[in-house]
Amino acid sequence: MANKIPHRLYLNENEIPKQWYNLRADMKEQPDPMLLPDGTVAQEEHIYPVFCKKLANQEFDSTTRFIDIPDEILSIYKVYRPAPLCRAYDLERTLGTPAKIYYKYEGNNTSGSHKLNSAVAQAYYAKDEGLKGITTETGAGQWGTALAEAAGYFGLDLVVYMVKVSYEQKPFRKAVMETFDAKVIASPSNTTNIGRAILEADPNNSGSLGTAISEAIEVAVTTEGYRYVLGSVLNQVLLHQSIIGLETELAMQKLGEYPDIVIGCAGGGSNLGGLVAPFMRDKITGKSNPRIIAVEPASCPSLTRGKYAYDFCDSGRTTPLAKMYTLGCGFKPSANHAGGLRYHGMSPIMSKLYHDGYMEAVAYEQTAVFEAAKLFAKRETILPAPESAHAIKGAIDEALKCKETGEAKTILFGLSGTGYFDLMAYTQHNEGTMTDYVPTDADLEASFKDLPQVG
Ligand SMILES: *Cc1c(COP(=O)(O)O)cnc(C)c1O
Repeated sequence: MANKIPHRLYLNENEIPKQWYNLRADMKEQPDPMLLPDGTVAQEEHIYPVFCKKLANQEFDSTTRFIDIPDEILSIYKVYRPAPLCRAYDLERTLGTPAKIYYKYEGNNTSGSHKLNSAVAQAYYAKDEGLKGITTETGAGQWGTALAEAAGYFGLDLVVYMVKVSYEQKPFRKAVMETFDAKVIASPSNTTNIGRAILEADPNNSGSLGTAISEAIEVAVTTEGYRYVLGSVLNQVLLHQSIIGLETELAMQKLGEYPDIVIGCAGGGSNLGGLVAPFMRDKITGKSNPRIIAVEPASCPSLTRGKYAYDFCDSGRTTPLAKMYTLGCGFKPSANHAGGLRYHGMSPIMSKLYHDGYMEAVAYEQTAVFEAAKLFAKRETILPAPESAHAIKGAIDEALKCKETGEAKTILFGLSGTGYFDLMAYTQHNEGTMTDYVPTDADLEASFKDLPQVG
């Protein structure tokens, strides 16, 4: 059967957008400002010791609508972009829905996810500023892998603090990072004061993202020519990820399509924020009114059950405070939660938009998410990342609602990455050993108690 709309639409490489879009410039109200721990408003200069200047500048820029993408970044974008916009015909047929389902696939690069879009930008600006190296943390390893590729490309030293339990369980991630010349250190380590203090108290400490962040920041601020970089949550990261939404908008225009519903998975909010940026702009400015839906795991439900409050961005309580939906920086998602999306907070931009009613949010349990992932894999031939499978589940549920009502809605979702590095989780699901865990209200109240008393 001939389909009028192709299964996959690739833009021409010259059609890759040459500017990022800064959604803040069109927001009616701005997210609340970042605060220092003493409660005063943080200024751009305050973050210079940690972040490089151009990135600090982007973090604080809420007025420049479009920001030029430097040529050096565009030329590497052209190596692995544009990312295809796909029409899920087989999934639609299997569901028996009148809805049209589109997805933007960001898994076609070695990091296996959208994270490379911001890694490339952050590595470029560090190099451009004449820095020698950068530091970061990684949990499951996607961000570390993306940054290793980017740092390798620009010839920048990279030190990755990898949560010890992942370091031991995911040796292949470490191998990829080292192939791109990154230095990977299991955290907690004896290379920092904070790491040594933790190991002294507990030599078998298996590490946490919070500790890895604290170690990476300590090295960045105490090593000449080094800065720290972060792969999600920050305004600058959402800015870089707007490339996803801008490409999608253009591809849909070429097809004569526009989404009624836009869906993304939400960990720290960067792939979601990037995908929805132009559609959110249309909604804010009244040009159109798509529904925008964030999907999160029921085991780490920051939007659906968190508090909109000032909180630290790390569990070590060393960063400035951001106003966001948070479960409390001490919240520990259950160890049985297989996929990513384990962050306690949410991008301040996406938090503000959700708070102001521009976005909806739903939470799903992981076994249901993996069922959606397997159905999608069989129909579309792509093994999705568990994170991305949350968006798949959201899209399937909306398509099934269309089946009931007979409405032929256009659904767009973000397929943020591949699941090739998550085969332990697929194995658990295949063997029937995967379980669900939902925190109780008492669990959440316990962690809300430690929210900082400011703002
Ligand atoms: C890191 C990651 C996410 C979650 O991060 P966001 O900042 O919320 O986008 C989602 N999907 C994949 C594939 C990831 O690697």
